[in-house]
Amino acid sequence: MSGATDPKVVVIGSGPAGYTAAIYLSRANIPNLLFEGHQPGGQLTITTDVENYPGFPDGVQGPELMERFRAQAARFGTQILTQVVQKVDLSQHPFTIWSNDEKYQARAVIIATGAEARWLGLPGEESFHGKGLSACATCDGFFFKDQDIAVVGGGDTAMEEANFLTNFASKVTVIHRRDELRASKIMQQRAFDNPKIDIAWNKIIKSYEGDDNGNLVNLKLEDTQDGKEHDLPVTGCFIAIGHIPNTAFLQNQLELDENGYILTKPDRTATSVEGVFACGDAQDHEWRQAVTAAGTGCMAALEVERWLAGQSS
Ligand code: NAP
Repeated sequence: MSGATDPKVVVIGSGPAGYTAAIYLSRANIPNLLFEGHQPGGQLTITTDVENYPGFPDGVQGPELMERFRAQAARFGTQILTQVVQKVDLSQHPFTIWSNDEKYQARAVIIATGAEARWLGLPGEESFHGKGLSACATCDGFFFKDQDIAVVGGGDTAMEEANFLTNFASKVTVIHRRDELRASKIMQQRAFDNPKIDIAWNKIIKSYEGDDNGNLVNLKLEDTQDGKEHDLPVTGCFIAIGHIPNTAFLQNQLELDENGYILTKPDRTATSVEGVFACGDAQDHEWRQAVTAAGTGCMAALEVERWLAGQSS
């Protein structure tokens, strides 16, 4: 058993959903322990300007916003551990959570583990990580000053990354597999208006090509209409094709959908296991916004509060 005080509620995950759940639990005087995982603050810590989070008319940097969430949870008494949860046993009460070979128990669990970047899965892809291939423009854009680079995807993330990368690169080619973008109109327009952005429509990457040192120098593209192959000489390529929920450790513990997202009851955060609740991107593949994640984090905490009250009466 761990040295930490066993809490009533364990929150797993530290994005807007997890921290918001913790704030509400702590302010309801429910002892809670939050596992931050290996990327405290979640996906917002690898973005720059957040212009759509209410209350920040001039925008706010993602990492700063998450620092503020964390400080607010800590202020009201949430115990925070910068550790990853390896496994859980949700088959019996109290629930058991293992982290760093220690065991924690809780009467209720809130899962807010979010999602992470999806890769193309091409042969040799991993060998190009850090050698031209990235899934985070904010982290790696700086390395591509005055170079020609590519962004893969047609969603808001791809448009945001392409625009951001023009701060560094000489030219950014967006590679999209269809002839229309999925991104919101305003994000599309920003990309169309940016003279440094080209869009390669109806194209997919067939393979990555490196130099003698293994650094990316070329992309082999295939046209999805006529099957013809093209070279796109670039030294950087940013993959922005969506996300995978961080729920592998929940296999056989909870009902998940076919993509691994946690299934919750309609209009609720309650999962298939009584006493276990899920919020944020780990259960939401549709809206995936900081503010909606925070909203469902709040819902999860209020549902836990109600559920615990029902248990003791
Ligand atoms: P997304 O909306 O799911 O878009 C993923 C894109 O990648 C799609 O265009 C998709 O193509 C493409 N794609 C998927 N798998 C692919 C593959 N194997 N090969 C090639 N292309 C592939 O994901 P997202 O852009 O990360 O956005 C996620 C959510 O966050 C959205 O709700 C978005 O609105 C939101 N978001 C908002 C902002 C903002 O408002 N500032 C910024 C970022 C994200 P198809 O279109 O052909 O399916």
